[in-house]
Amino acid sequence: MVVSYTALLGDVWRKISESINPTARELASRYGYLDYAVARYYEILGGWEYVKELLEAFEKPLSRTIRVNTLRFRDSREVLERLEKLGYEFSKISWESFSYIVTKTGRIPLGATHEFLLGGYYLYRGAASLISPLALLPKPSDVVLDSAAAPGGKTTHLAQLMGNRGVIVAVDVSRERFRALRSNLERMGVENVVALRIDSRKIPGIFGEHFTKSLLDAPCTGEGIIQIDPTRKTKTSFEDLVRAHKRQVELLTAAIHSTVPGGLIVYSTCSIAPEEDEFTVAEVLEKLNNVRVVKPSVGLDLEPGVTEYFGIELPAQLKLCGRTYPHRHGFEGFFICVLEKV
Ligand code: SAM
Repeated sequence: MVVSYTALLGDVWRKISESINPTARELASRYGYLDYAVARYYEILGGWEYVKELLEAFEKPLSRTIRVNTLRFRDSREVLERLEKLGYEFSKISWESFSYIVTKTGRIPLGATHEFLLGGYYLYRGAASLISPLALLPKPSDVVLDSAAAPGGKTTHLAQLMGNRGVIVAVDVSRERFRALRSNLERMGVENVVALRIDSRKIPGIFGEHFTKSLLDAPCTGEGIIQIDPTRKTKTSFEDLVRAHKRQVELLTAAIHSTVPGGLIVYSTCSIAPEEDEFTVAEVLEKLNNVRVVKPSVGLDLEPGVTEYFGIELPAQLKLCGRTYPHRHGFEGFFICVLEKV
């Protein structure tokens, strides 16, 4: 029997509504969230003590992160030493070769230094963005699709990992964000990217099964980055989550149709909502039958994907997906799923 995980979201909403209890209401009111969101965090994390840790972590600012750009500066030390002279201090991220957490801020904002303008580094709000390009395992021989690319944090990272070789087709539909993508590609000295401003759902019709690897860093509600934008505590309704899910299913389907058999597809969001994460992948697994989930190969401990949500069982292979949480990893809430096309 074919299951529609999109249709099951109706049942999820009923069960969430029934599960809103006095503890959920009290925490929602104390931290300024909608009740239904907090009831979901209990279901995801499995204990009120963890929910409190998550809500506390969302109150704390994220540590800024830089990735030194070896396409512009061969020696990472040179960039770091120049920034240290401005008063900055850093701690190395163990699982990414070129990236550092900013531990002390210097005299000039990181988005305005000479080194930034020279393309010496990419500046992130948090470290989770580094995970998806690494998980795609890009090689200089790959032809990569980045189907939601702007402003280019992950495209420029992929280009660095590929040593400016191979080809990346970077797609984004937004005119304004596309401008930022172009300017970041130029600033960072990226030479292996073709940038297209179109709706990436059109990509399979244009290219067919063409790409050896595809990244979909999907548009989402941002339920993992509440530290950056606290308005997200109250602005996402359950209908918004369902709308985001449906768009993500279409975008992920297009990314898979654009990838050659044997190729890898990475799906990521900056959201901890299973409605946008596991339910999206589950719907696509059910509909397409030509992809399987594989474990991300990154040197970082990820929490497993959700395989049961409000009594609804999801495909067991979703436990191979990876999640990060601010209270456990010290950065954004993030979701990643690596799919292999078979
Ligand atoms: N990967 C980017 C980075 O690392 O800098 C961030 C991508 S952001 C999470 C999602 C992007 O998807 C937005 O820039 C948005 O404009 C784009 N987008 C939304 N719908 C799209 C569509 N149908 N086709 C192409 N891009 C789309």
